[in-house]
Amino acid sequence: MIGIKADLTELDLPEVYYSIGDYCSSTARWCPGCGAHAILTSVQKLCREEQLPPEKTVFVSGIGCSSRFPHYMKTYGFHGLHGRAFPVAEGVKFRRPDLDVFVITGDGDCCSIGAGHWVHAIRYNMKMVVLLFDNEIYGLTKKQTSPTSPVGTQSNTHPKGSILPPINPIQSTLGFTNVSFVAQTADWNPAHLYATIKKAHEHPGLSFVRILQRCPVWMLDGFSSDVSRPESLTLLDHENGIELDDQVRNSFGKIIQHDPSNIDKAREYVELEDGSNPIGLFYQNTEALRYDEYGAHNIKMPVNKRLEGLNGLLDKYAI
Ligand code: SF4
Repeated sequence: MIGIKADLTELDLPEVYYSIGDYCSSTARWCPGCGAHAILTSVQKLCREEQLPPEKTVFVSGIGCSSRFPHYMKTYGFHGLHGRAFPVAEGVKFRRPDLDVFVITGDGDCCSIGAGHWVHAIRYNMKMVVLLFDNEIYGLTKKQTSPTSPVGTQSNTHPKGSILPPINPIQSTLGFTNVSFVAQTADWNPAHLYATIKKAHEHPGLSFVRILQRCPVWMLDGFSSDVSRPESLTLLDHENGIELDDQVRNSFGKIIQHDPSNIDKAREYVELEDGSNPIGLFYQNTEALRYDEYGAHNIKMPVNKRLEGLNGLLDKYAI
């Protein structure tokens, strides 16, 4: 017994080890077959692999099916207002740079009512992971055309089919000032999904990940039908891109070599001639300016000192 005790003390064991169960809250109430389940599993796996302390991790969401996400994580969370996940997450990160911040948003939440915040969040480039669950439809409110619905999508708002060309969130994000990380993945390829979220989490800035997400209830002909069509995905591959093992890489019928430092080429690959969906890392710049670093200056200054400084400034305007 003494010998065993001695061996254990020599092991470099962490004081706390978080298992998947430590990140799981209540049972997810998404529909059976919804792609959101796979994303939740991948994120919980990331938390365990990276041993993210639950009390130092925050999930912020807006409104929509995807935005129920914080309820299912046993971490801090904020289920906010429609389209307003970004400003809440920015506020959290600005004052608490020590926290790991994730934004969970949907195509309606981010690309419609929240579009103004989306543009500026990309420009602020604060260190956080943004997961856009794009099922190309408003699911929670039972099938209205979203900004990413393909032309011809029949919905309650467009019974004869939607008319306007959809926004491509990757194309848009690549056009925003100070963009630093843009990737696309699909919920039905768990290896690629996990590897993409991991790469996003490692990025020193705002990582924007569009996840092609199945909604088998309202968009049966959308990504839900792509699951049985491997040719619907094309892999963007590079040594600086998403890390995959050869078995996963070889499961793709079509692979394009793409250097993620090349933003012009990234824009070219957003829409492919064969109609397949490109997945991989479109663009990464680890040197882009970060507004949260600016905000972190003097963050530990005592409150009385802050007030002193503020009053000093306000005195300049005294009449
Ligand atoms: Fe998922 Fe669609 Fe059900 Fe919403 S309506 S939970 S997106 S399957």
